[in-house]
Parts: sequence; C-alpha cells; structure tokens
Amino acid sequence: MTNPPSILVIEDEAAIADTILYALSTDGMSVAHCALGGAALARLRAQVPDLVILDVGLPDINGFEVCRTLRTFSDVPVIFLTARHEEIDRIVGLEIGADDYVVKPFSPRELAARVRVILRRAGTRAAPPPAPPAAAAAQGFTLDADGARVAWRGRWLDLTRYEYLLLSLLLRHPGRIYSRAQLMALVWHDAADTIDRTVDTHVKTVRAKLRALDPGCDPIRTHRGMGYSLAA
Ligand code: CA
Repeated sequence: MTNPPSILVIEDEAAIADTILYALSTDGMSVAHCALGGAALARLRAQVPDLVILDVGLPDINGFEVCRTLRTFSDVPVIFLTARHEEIDRIVGLEIGADDYVVKPFSPRELAARVRVILRRAGTRAAPPPAPPAAAAAQGFTLDADGARVAWRGRWLDLTRYEYLLLSLLLRHPGRIYSRAQLMALVWHDAADTIDRTVDTHVKTVRAKLRALDPGCDPIRTHRGMGYSLAA
C-alpha cells in the first residue's frame, strides 16, 4: 500500500462534482476536479491519475472528444457520466474507449463502487477493504485498506507510511509472530537502506501512539528473540 488511488473528476456542474468528490474522498481516494475539458486534458498530459470520471456534456469540449484525445496518450480507465440514455450507445460502442458509465441522476455510492471495481480490474492499489480478522477487531482495531489508515477504539491513528504498513500487516494476521527479518522484507521491501533496528523503532512509535489513546493497553506483543505479533 502506497498512496490512495488518484481520481480526476471532469464535470462542469459544481453540485454534481461536489457530491462525487465527497463520496470518493470519504472512500479513501485522492480526488481532483476540473470543470472544463481543455483544462482537464492539460492536467492529464502533465499527470495521469489512476482513473478518470468524465462528464459527456462539458461546455468547452464534448466528453467524447476529451476521451478520444486522452486515448492518444493514455490507457487510464474512464467512467463516463451521462445525462441522456441515447448517449449510452456511443459510450458502450467502444469506439470511445470507455470502461464504464453511469446515468444521471446516480447514487454516489454506486459510482464509488464502480470506481473500486474498475481500479481492481485495472490492477491498481485500490484493494477492497478486507473485513478485519475477528481477533484484530476484538482488540479494537479497524483497518481501512482503501484509505491506508487504522482506527483504534474508534479513533483514527496518525501513522506514518511505514507505521501503517507495519501495523496493518500485524492486524491481518493476529497471533502470528513475525521475525524482524520477515518484517523488514514485508514492510520495508521498497526501502533502499534499512537496518533491523528500523523495526524496533517503528514498533516503539506505533506503541506510543496507541498508548496515547489508552495508556494501560499494549496490543502488540514482543516475543523475545523471535519478533512481534498482535495479541490474538
Ligand atoms: Ca455537464
């Protein structure tokens, strides 16, 4: 897990754009917005997101044209927003290169669900939030994999990237003991320079953050000479 999936919403109607932005960001996605097709294409040429949500009826460039131009330089998944059923034939006709569409008015939840499906299909990072293992939930943890965050006793922890990766790994397998070498390989696999003490340091900072919420509780077990686990 690195950053949350990035979504660009191209929609000129502010109320609709706001609804989408709200739904997707509460779903843990990183959302940007453009009201015009021209500005959106300029932005897309500079940086391609993980997925594009594209209104057909834009005031400057028609959404179909935006998509056609986009396809000359990117295969990023596109979901069309359309107000008219007669446009669906063109969208699903595949000449445009769309991945999906929703017809206005639509439910933001439905749109968010479709975004997740397409991101998963595209093999990006937006894995569905796994149900927390019973033992992790019993310890009071909630894992939000889409948002790359962890709540403990109903409050979100302010974790760094590696603290999150470390804690979420323990949460996925309560009771399992990970050696420092395993944690180094599983959590810090993309880090250039690391030493074993990195694990100890991060366990210590995660514990401090948990202790800040409940001084009397330490759900992370130290197994001397073996490693760490979440209390099962
Ligand atoms: Ca429109």
